[in-house]
Amino acid sequence: MSLASPTLQVAAVRARRRRSLLLTGVITALILAGAMMEFVHPVYAVVLLAAAGAAGLLLWTEPLTPAETAIAPPPAPPRSRVEPAVSAVVAALPEPALLLTPDADILVANARVALAIGPAKVGDPLSFLVRVPEVLEAVRSSAQDGIPRRVEFGERIPLDRWLEAHIVPLRLAEAPARSASGDTPKPDTVLLTFRDLTQQRRVEQMRADFVANASHELRTPLASLSGFIETLLGPARNDAAARERFLGIMGAQARRMSRLIDDLLSLSRIELNAHVRPDTQVELGMIVAHVCETLSPLARERGVEISVSRPEEPVPVLGDRDELIRLFENLVENALKYGASGKRIDVALSLSDGDALVAVTDFGPGIPSEHLPRLTERFYRVDVVASRDQGGTGLGLAIVKHIVARHRGKLTIESQPGAGATFTTRIETLAKVEKAD
Ligand code: ADP
Repeated sequence: MSLASPTLQVAAVRARRRRSLLLTGVITALILAGAMMEFVHPVYAVVLLAAAGAAGLLLWTEPLTPAETAIAPPPAPPRSRVEPAVSAVVAALPEPALLLTPDADILVANARVALAIGPAKVGDPLSFLVRVPEVLEAVRSSAQDGIPRRVEFGERIPLDRWLEAHIVPLRLAEAPARSASGDTPKPDTVLLTFRDLTQQRRVEQMRADFVANASHELRTPLASLSGFIETLLGPARNDAAARERFLGIMGAQARRMSRLIDDLLSLSRIELNAHVRPDTQVELGMIVAHVCETLSPLARERGVEISVSRPEEPVPVLGDRDELIRLFENLVENALKYGASGKRIDVALSLSDGDALVAVTDFGPGIPSEHLPRLTERFYRVDVVASRDQGGTGLGLAIVKHIVARHRGKLTIESQPGAGATFTTRIETLAKVEKAD
C-alpha cells in the first residue's frame, strides 16, 4: 500500500517528466548538431532521433518506483488519527477527559474539560490548558515508559480547589510485532482525566477541625480538675475552706464535661438520622408550651418573663418530639443566657403559607451582623468567656441547625445589635406535607 498522498504522487510524476523532457531535448540537440556538422550521417541521425524520442517516451510513462512513492507523508492533522469510536468514549466519560499525543498535544477533549478546567483546543499543547509542571511531567513520563500516574494538585485561582489528574498511557493503533528484545510497543496516546477532590478535602478538614475542637473543649476542664486534685493532695491538704471552694469548682467542671459529651452524642445521633425525615405526628403548640414551662424556673432565676403566643387550633407537624423539644429548649435557653438583660422573651407560634413558624425573640444585647452567618458552626461563639460562664458548649445552635434540617425546615436568625435577636424556625405543617404528596 502506498503511503504517499495523491498530491505527493503528482509532484513525483511531474519531476520525472521534467527530467525525461530535458534528457530527450539534450540528446536531440546533440544529434542535430552532429548531423549539421556532418559528424553524423543524416540516415543515422534520423535513427538516433527516433531512438531518443522512444527512450524519452518510455521515461515519461514509466510507473513510479517504490523509492519515489515512499516519501514520508507530512504529519497528519492530529484529529485524523483518532477513531470516531475513541472520541465518542472520551466524550461520554463522566469526568473531564483529554486524549493526548505522546508529545502532550490535545487530540480530543470532552465537554467537561471546558466546564472544569478551561477551553481546550484540538492541536494545542496541553501546557496551554494545564500549567501544572507536575502534570505535564507525568504525561511526558507516562508516554515514555507506559506507566500510569496520578498527580494531586491544588489551585488558588479562580477558586481554591483540589484536583487529581489520572494519566493513563494507551496504545490505540494496531501494535507492531514485538521486537526481538521483547519490548512492549510504546504508547501512541495518553488519556488524562481529572477528579475534583475539593469536597472530600473539605470534609476531611472539617472532621479534623471537629476532633481538634472537641479535644480542646474536653481538655480544658480536665486540666482544671487535675490541677485542683494536685492542690488538694498537696498544699491545700489540710485547708478545709479551700477544699470546699475547690470541690465546688471541680463539680462545675465535671458538669461541663458531661454537658459537652451529651451535646456531642446528640449531634452525632441527629447527624446519623439526618437523611430520614421524621414520620410521627406531633402537635407543635404543646411542644412549645412544654419547653417554656420547663424553663420557667430558670427564667424566674434570671428575672426574665417568657410570653407564649400560639393559634387556638392545634398545629400538627411530622416530627421527632424529643428533637423538637431539644431544638426549642436550646433557643429559649440561649435567649435566657444571652438576652436576660432585656427582661422579656417572646415565643410565638404562627402559621404562614402552610408552614408553622416558631419565633424566639429576646431583647438583650443582640448579635453583631458579622457573626450571624457562622453562629450555627460547631464550637462557634461570639464571646467564648461569656459562653463558658453560662455553661455553654458552643454546640447548641449546631444541634438546632441539624434538627431543623432533619425536619426539612429552615432556621433564620435576625438581630439588631442593642435591640435583641430573633431565631425563627419554619417547618411544614402536616396539612401541607399531605397536600404535596
Ligand atoms: P453556647 O453553648 O455557647 O450557647 P450556641 O451554639 O447555643 O452555643 O450559641 C453560639 C453562640 O451564639 C453563643 O456562644 C452566643 O455567643 C451566641 N448566641 C446564641 N444565642 C444568642 C442570643 N439569643 N443572643 C445573643 N447571642 C446569642
